[in-house]
Amino acid sequence: MKRIIIVLWVAIISSYADAANLANADSVLPISKLGSINFTNYPGKANTYRAILGYSQQEREIEAWYFAGETSNRAMIIGGVHGSELSAIEVARELIRQLQSGPRPYYSVIIIPCLFPDNAATAINNPALIGTVNNKGRYSATHTADPNRQMPALGRGFDYQRSTDYLGRLIEKENQLLLKAIDAFRPQRIVNLHAIRNIDFAGIYADPRTDSDGYALGYETDSSLAVDMAVYIQLQKGVVPGNKLLTQPSSLYYKDPIAALRGSIQKRNLTGANLPGGKGHGVSLGGWASTAIADPICPDRNRPAIRLITVEFPGYKRPADYRDQTQRQMMQQQVSIYSNAIREIFLGNYYVEQPALSTFARN
Ligand SMILES: [Zn+2]
Repeated sequence: MKRIIIVLWVAIISSYADAANLANADSVLPISKLGSINFTNYPGKANTYRAILGYSQQEREIEAWYFAGETSNRAMIIGGVHGSELSAIEVARELIRQLQSGPRPYYSVIIIPCLFPDNAATAINNPALIGTVNNKGRYSATHTADPNRQMPALGRGFDYQRSTDYLGRLIEKENQLLLKAIDAFRPQRIVNLHAIRNIDFAGIYADPRTDSDGYALGYETDSSLAVDMAVYIQLQKGVVPGNKLLTQPSSLYYKDPIAALRGSIQKRNLTGANLPGGKGHGVSLGGWASTAIADPICPDRNRPAIRLITVEFPGYKRPADYRDQTQRQMMQQQVSIYSNAIREIFLGNYYVEQPALSTFARN
């Protein structure tokens, strides 16, 4: 079976290798195949793919870009979980541009620049409301849960039959595609790209990892990775006030419980914002990914805790949404600096998860 898949891939890749601009080739990369490639040993020039993870509720493409790294260590970058946070989507797109022309990163990486393209379109189509408390584009509909709060129970895998979250609500299609992509690709570290209206809290944060029962695995390296990214941003004149680098360097989001000592129970914030219908409640992507899975019902979904970095970019607006030229340039610079930090530090050879798997064929 493994051999057949690899032969099939060689055939597919060879046909794309002829394309003048491979990076722009529309190769459909089925999610089920993401886990079957041994990326480091993969032959040929074909080390960049633009793929379609699937389609949104309004039938928009959900793009995913794959860039082969120097190693088979695996990272994932997710933008547009909140469609209203347009600047965060810009950071993801800038990162794709940088990786297209720059050297290979240490990690092999999948970038999903905009997970909820319908919601981002809603935000873009209401330009006067971008960055306002109206939050246009954050939710898919009035009664749907916060897209960042639709994960399965902590320590449990995504149930493909029921497709419900921790609170029994149907997980939106876009998040289902994300969960399947995580299952197939098995990233060891994830960046969840967001933006924040109050720029005092802009910065780089890490979720504490735990075992499947919620016991802390030790926060030191997660915290160091987040702080290193923040330091990098600050040195390039980027804005990361939430990390308090000059007073008391921190990698903990201000609303999250403090990191527990290794071996003790880690408190998690499962309530989020207190909103009508409990739509702000539920397990966040950060909490779910950073908890190991040991699932008696579907043990093939078991995995270690994933290192999870949440980026909170300053302000929701894209550079083009700012009124004057100076502001636009300044914000474009912030987008580049944040993207640089992800490429250089997060995708670099820092705090590499052990053991690194030499292959992740799952057949
Ligand atoms: Zn957000």
